[in-house]
Amino acid sequence: MRVPGKVNVYLGVGPREFSGFHELATIFQSVGVYDEVTVSASDSLKISGLGEFADQIPTDATNLAWQAAELVARACGEEPNIHIQIDKSIPIAAGMAGGSADAAATLVACDAFWNAGIPREQLDAMASTLGSDVPFMLHGGCALGVGRGDVLSPIMTRGTFHWVFATFAEGLSTAQIYEKTDEMRGFDFEDLPDVPTEVLGALARGDAPALGNLLHNDLQAAAIISRPQLGRVLEHGIDSGALGAIVSGSGPTCAFLVRDESSAIDLVVELKASGLVDDVIRTHGPVHGARVISTSR
Ligand code: ATP
Repeated sequence: MRVPGKVNVYLGVGPREFSGFHELATIFQSVGVYDEVTVSASDSLKISGLGEFADQIPTDATNLAWQAAELVARACGEEPNIHIQIDKSIPIAAGMAGGSADAAATLVACDAFWNAGIPREQLDAMASTLGSDVPFMLHGGCALGVGRGDVLSPIMTRGTFHWVFATFAEGLSTAQIYEKTDEMRGFDFEDLPDVPTEVLGALARGDAPALGNLLHNDLQAAAIISRPQLGRVLEHGIDSGALGAIVSGSGPTCAFLVRDESSAIDLVVELKASGLVDDVIRTHGPVHGARVISTSR
């Protein structure tokens, strides 16, 4: 299975509910940074990691891929005796939903492995129970997410958007960034989130300059307070010609929308030379969600 990461081109966050969750209004776009998830027979449920982030991948039940395998096994009456290998390119704790991506890939891989034929709606429901971002990672493309981000409507887009991602070796905790956001807004905050129709228009027209001006993330202020360097990175990207700059999800990854491939190459060089970031990735979106790339048993 190959599964991409995501960026939220718009992320509106409502007040904290009693349940602890926040109502979201977000536009997800999947981008061409991929994890590869392979499922094979084993004597028990096991996870191993490959790739440059291998040592940071949890190999126990805290891994969302583990929980996904158990869900599918239960649904089709199998013992979850499989080995899940995760070859990771999506940075960890980076606001690109890498764990959710692996969970989505594992749902589809296990369904295929056990020939379960689970209907798509049931896979979607399983995805929601694993986490708010998991349903989108199953579908990919571009979608509006409301509720906890798990109630999806596909969005029309034209052409390809070019992105540059600045990444950092040290992640940020999603839970702490939400908490900081609540604290900064105060307990009387009650505005419900909404996505401006201009954002949908810019996506439908493939209008990168317009979209660049409309990028928005309600978690960004808290991410910058938690790591002030992110403010400097975003500013540096804009000064170097990006059409728009945003913290991806709960951060710390910074996403820059650029005009075309050659602007992307220029920005990669600028960001690397700045010494402000640990790595830089050039990619594009939207791309397909979790896909089987080969099967053998
Ligand atoms: P999100 O934006 O969905 O909250 P994220 O992209 O910021 O998440 P992830 O890479 O999904 O971050 O990892 C967040 C935490 O989840 C990690 O610190 C890790 O302990 C845990 N985790 C669970 N499953 C995985 C997985 N398959 N890959 C990486 N981390 C995972």
